[in-house]
Amino acid sequence: MYDPLTGLANRRHFDEALAREFNLARRNKKPLSLIICDIDFFKPYNDRYGHQKGDSCLSKVALLLAGACNRHTDLVCRYGGEEFTIILPDTDLAGVKLLAEKLRNAVWEGDIAHEASTVAGRITLSLGTATYTGQYQFVDAMLKAADDALYRAKANGRNRVESA
Ligand code: GH3
Ligand code: MG
Ligand code: MG
Repeated sequence: MYDPLTGLANRRHFDEALAREFNLARRNKKPLSLIICDIDFFKPYNDRYGHQKGDSCLSKVALLLAGACNRHTDLVCRYGGEEFTIILPDTDLAGVKLLAEKLRNAVWEGDIAHEASTVAGRITLSLGTATYTGQYQFVDAMLKAADDALYRAKANGRNRVESA
């Protein structure tokens, strides 16, 4: 259930937890938020610093993300490669925007050097959020909304948050 490199919940754990929380939110008429984040220009990072540094960068980012989430119900996951997801039960749009900005800032303040990045001389994150308030029929639609928001964050210049 855990990713060996970062110690975070793995993809399978994430899929199960999101399906469970989606059903709970629907039944209890509570909001549920989701964040998908992706490291900016990580391929150039590997090319510049090598895969071992790349791996250690992933571990550092994982620690920064986990450290910035303080509710015990928040689940931080390694979704795949250099992408991370956070499941936030009982969290509305205002709440997820605040947390996503906090995560973006935590990684910024982590100040991991990235000379090959064109947005900053350091590692940055792009983040997309989605908040379920009854509008999505299936969990996949929520996931897609967060992913579309992430795509907009990339297109709008990276190192930023966009919300569905
Ligand atoms: P963007 O700003 O658009 O996200 O650009 P990017 O370079 O981050 O995006 P892309 O998806 O092209 O590259 C992701 C890279 O992440 C490719 C791969 O080399 C690297 N990567 C994925 N998983 C791992 C891993 O476990 N370790 C290391 N070191 N690198 C990984
Ligand atoms: Mg990616
Ligand atoms: Mg990336």
